[in-house]
Amino acid sequence: MYYMEHKSKLPNIKTTIFTTIGNLARKHNAIDLSQGFPNFESDPNLIKLVSKAMNSGYNQYAPMPGYYGLREAISEKIYRTHNYEYHPETETTVTVGATQAIFTAISAFVHTNDEVIVIKPAYDCYEPAIILNGGIPVYLQLNTPNYQIDWEAFKKLITSKTKMVIINTPHNPTGRMLTKEDMLQLQAILKPTNIILLSDEVYEHIAFDGKIHESACRYPDLANRSFICASFGKTFHVTGWKLGYCVAPVTLMKEFRKVHQFAVFCVDHPVQRAMAAYLRDENHYLNLNNFYQEKRDLFINGLSSSRFDYTPSEGTYFQLLDYSNITDDGDEAYAKHLIIEKSIASIPISSFNVENRNDNVLRFCFAKKKESLERALEVLCSI
Ligand code: PMP
Ligand code: GLN
Repeated sequence: MYYMEHKSKLPNIKTTIFTTIGNLARKHNAIDLSQGFPNFESDPNLIKLVSKAMNSGYNQYAPMPGYYGLREAISEKIYRTHNYEYHPETETTVTVGATQAIFTAISAFVHTNDEVIVIKPAYDCYEPAIILNGGIPVYLQLNTPNYQIDWEAFKKLITSKTKMVIINTPHNPTGRMLTKEDMLQLQAILKPTNIILLSDEVYEHIAFDGKIHESACRYPDLANRSFICASFGKTFHVTGWKLGYCVAPVTLMKEFRKVHQFAVFCVDHPVQRAMAAYLRDENHYLNLNNFYQEKRDLFINGLSSSRFDYTPSEGTYFQLLDYSNITDDGDEAYAKHLIIEKSIASIPISSFNVENRNDNVLRFCFAKKKESLERALEVLCSI
């Protein structure tokens, strides 16, 4: 047989850690706290709204930027939560999850040799999108356990080639949240520049202990230069629906839609109809903080007699655990050991660090049923 040789556009990118660990977890029938998804069902009323939309005949293409009723509901939600107005006609676009929003924003603006500042550890979909578009990721590596941003160090990374900065709050995998002071510093640093901010806010409704999610749109000079990307998958326990959205000022959104219309054209129509109706009741998302705080508390309180160290997660549905008291093994080796020998799966966070730096830290997802968390705690406390 003849094999054609092709030069890879992503020679250094491997299969994602979520797939690698997820496959191993299934093979060993482990309690799966690795990939971030709930193991409980969404609200049956939301599911009924989807079948209602399908039975009502909304089974053909939606408008390119999204069903208008959903765009209106998104804009209203942002206005109610952050007191900032995005026009549903020109500044709000419905996307195939946040992943497509992020990919599209990067593709629309990053030219060959443009630099994009990525704060590490970082969720793994930013870097391949930058590289595919000929851009150059420039890293600021943060350190355990607080992962605070040194804004002076950040400022030094900015050059005449910097096109974009990517932030993520609440943060996957660390569970840290940017504070008002962080956002003010970022705003002051970016003010004299033309740099675009890509703000990944998929965990916008999962913040604990009364902390406020500091969306980029709360800061006028950041809002003017930002794409804000979000995910209904996270907010409504439906990660498999891959429904998200992106908001940005009209001039940025115009360029975004040039790419969006040829990447996907439009997004699943009946699900958009259902989401538009569901979003009108703000209790559907405002109660999420308490819902997940209970799970975080169950998880961390249950760990008090374990040998793991941790700083409580401030937001997201992830908790980092430091296992330095247990072994010197690298995190990937230890995560695999825990799956094979202890039947519990987590994500090694070295895959999100610069040069896969090992910090002896694993990420556990607590978006799980009470009984799954209790079984996990039994195992973790026995180590
Ligand atoms: N950003 C972060 C930080 C995430 O954790 C995820 C995981 N889902 C995404 C983006 C992608 O979201 P979606 O599933 O809506 O594409
Ligand atoms: N966002 C999910 C997580 O961080 C993973 C989604 C994926 O598998 N790419 O666990």
